[in-house]
Amino acid sequence: MPELPEVETIKRDLRELVVGSKVQDAEVLNPALVEEPSAEEFARRLKDSRISGARRRAKHLVIDLDSGDALVLQLKIGGQLLLVPPVEEPTTALMLVLRLDGGRRLFLRDETGFTRARLLDEDGLEARFEDLGPEPLGGGFHAGYLREELGGRRARIKGLLLDQKVVSGVGNIYVDEALFDARVHPTRKANTLTEGEWTRLQSAIEENLAAGIEHRGTTFSLYRDVLGRKGHHQEHLKVFVRAGKPCPGGCGGKVVREKMGGRATFLCPACQPEDGPGEESQLELA
Ligand SMILES: [Zn+2]
Repeated sequence: MPELPEVETIKRDLRELVVGSKVQDAEVLNPALVEEPSAEEFARRLKDSRISGARRRAKHLVIDLDSGDALVLQLKIGGQLLLVPPVEEPTTALMLVLRLDGGRRLFLRDETGFTRARLLDEDGLEARFEDLGPEPLGGGFHAGYLREELGGRRARIKGLLLDQKVVSGVGNIYVDEALFDARVHPTRKANTLTEGEWTRLQSAIEENLAAGIEHRGTTFSLYRDVLGRKGHHQEHLKVFVRAGKPCPGGCGGKVVREKMGGRATFLCPACQPEDGPGEESQLELA
């Protein structure tokens, strides 16, 4: 599922390639796409509007229209937004087609069918996003915030970091990578983390998301940018989907895959000890 770096990449592509275009017509090809308003009203309100901007909030893509509406997309695991041309016209799994001026079209397709869309005004947008936690790359996200929000909680740290009310935009790939970089075991109870671990975790989250953006996202199978290109952050992953491979932390051990709360979790048991760092290694890492 596209996480912050993938949605950010699509947002930047839209700003470069699509913002300023007029929507001459909108056709909903899979009515299950549209959460609100009705599919008919959705298409009617998109028609003849001009795309005035593109934003991202958490894993949501927000396409602003000069009518005051915003098209909000939740691209689920197979969600692709493709600009035709230059991309060849897709013919399967189509959900929405926006016919733009200049003979171009923006296709939304999803082989899994889980992608959802809403058309919201500014108040609707605010209500929709009011529970989301801070953007990890947008200020307001620092080690003190994480410690204050989570330091008293007894739940497992990985699950808490995936909660969009705590940090927005982080999902399974980038959380495993950040926990590895911070040398924190995913099942550690949040209230056992040390000051140094909160600091490392916060910077590891920022660094991994920034690297994901720099590499234009992670593609295992379905993720594509607006021009149909794969991301290449998968070439830079340290533990995620690397079970059995040597740990890049230099410990001599191997990456393992565990199941945690129904999710595949990748970690190095030597670098990320389950019972936390001993006092000596804490001094070493400080
Ligand atoms: Zn290791």
